[in-house]
Amino acid sequence: MSLPDAREEDVVAIAGRLETLHERMAQACQQAGRQPGEVTLIGVTKTFPLETVAAALEAGLRDLGENRAQELAAKAAATPPDACRWHMIGHLQRNKARIVVQRAFMFHALDSLRLADALERRAQEEGRILPCLVQVNISGEATKSGVEPADAHDVLEALTSRDHLRIKGLMTLAAPAADPEKVRPQFREMRRLFDAASMPGMMMLSMGMSNDFEVAIEEGATHIRVGSAIFGPRGG
Ligand SMILES: *Cc1c(COP(=O)(O)O)cnc(C)c1O
Repeated sequence: MSLPDAREEDVVAIAGRLETLHERMAQACQQAGRQPGEVTLIGVTKTFPLETVAAALEAGLRDLGENRAQELAAKAAATPPDACRWHMIGHLQRNKARIVVQRAFMFHALDSLRLADALERRAQEEGRILPCLVQVNISGEATKSGVEPADAHDVLEALTSRDHLRIKGLMTLAAPAADPEKVRPQFREMRRLFDAASMPGMMMLSMGMSNDFEVAIEEGATHIRVGSAIFGPRGG
């Protein structure tokens, strides 16, 4: 399987939305006294077809994200090896750990020590070291994955003993909110947990999506994960 040709109208539409997005990112950085180069944009292609992936690459995106292991595997298999970096951003079942070890540049949603055990075993078998972020359930919603904020420190400590996992930072999804200012305290609390985790190599804070990325950047996000603001609405 390989990538189909991008459709010209997709490339134009995506490039246009990316231009606006980069302007808004730069403005949020300026607001916070940060450099635009400090924030990496991950384009979330979940549910979109391979044509969209081809268009995303042609429009210049180099970091792409998926929230389901099998969809990531299929899309990664279809893209040339050096075309982009695939980020696994969604909850992972342990029986799919190998897919992520084989295909993902980085795993953003490490949320239990049992999953860490499964990933460690697969990574050892595959002879690779997997960069991971620990997902924190900062909003406290029962529907969301992630370790409890109060447990984050202990989980991070426990993970340092995994030789084939490199814990690079933290990830979260804020609660859905019509007004992104409402979730600023959640991002701020993530930043506090991040700063408090004084472990070597911790440098990534993955937070902010289409609706709230500016606030996330202002509060210290190093990676934002944006889908609909680049690719349009999903499933419609
Ligand atoms: C879908 C998804 C995103 C992107 O959401 P948008 O609102 O489309 O920007 C970001 N992070 C995760 C974990 C997702 O599943």
